[in-house]
Amino acid sequence: MNVLLLLPFLAIILGYLTARTLKRVTPGVNYLLAFSGAFLLSIIFFELLPELFATGAPHISGALMIGMLLQIALDYFSKGAEHGHIHRDKTAKDFPLALFLSLSVHALIEGFPVAHSDHVLWGVVIHKIPIALILSLFLIQSSLSKGKQLLFLFLFGLMTPLGTLVALYIPQLTPHKPVINALAVGVFLHVATTILFESSKDHQFNQIKLMVILAGALAGYMI
Ligand SMILES: [Zn+2]
Ligand SMILES: [Zn+2]
Repeated sequence: MNVLLLLPFLAIILGYLTARTLKRVTPGVNYLLAFSGAFLLSIIFFELLPELFATGAPHISGALMIGMLLQIALDYFSKGAEHGHIHRDKTAKDFPLALFLSLSVHALIEGFPVAHSDHVLWGVVIHKIPIALILSLFLIQSSLSKGKQLLFLFLFGLMTPLGTLVALYIPQLTPHKPVINALAVGVFLHVATTILFESSKDHQFNQIKLMVILAGALAGYMI
């Protein structure tokens, strides 16, 4: 197994450690988030979509649409955690199971296309760092015990590598790979476009953010 496949897990650790250091969402975190959205979108348009349609496999369009709708449903439970913010009762002491499950389903699906493209791997890693950071800040500020916080992040971190392992080592899934990947691309499409949409909140023009978004799009094209 390629050790690089553990990078999405390391992204979670990096996000957590940065959250412990920064203690709040800084403009830099939002720039990284905007970069990750543009980078992901660029990989979707320049690599993933053309490849998916080139397979000639049936049901690609339907799977894309279902992936997009699935992420809308997951957002309902994760309150937007997968694209950069969380609205949840911070005084709750119980393990946030709905949040955990929706993030895990997302992360597991995300692991599939990682198995077939290093570019997707980098897209996922870059997108996971700010997400893990924002999620960690939420957990740190919640009244959950430290053990529960770390358990949450540890299990969540395992999901994407697990999705990749399933894609690599369960041969029965091979004929369905184009459809599963299309489902994942639908999920990415929703996350990437929402990040970009929300990064221009209140339609305030922000030169730095625009440059960061252009850099992300260019990086995704060049990679
Ligand atoms: Zn949102
Ligand atoms: Zn994601």
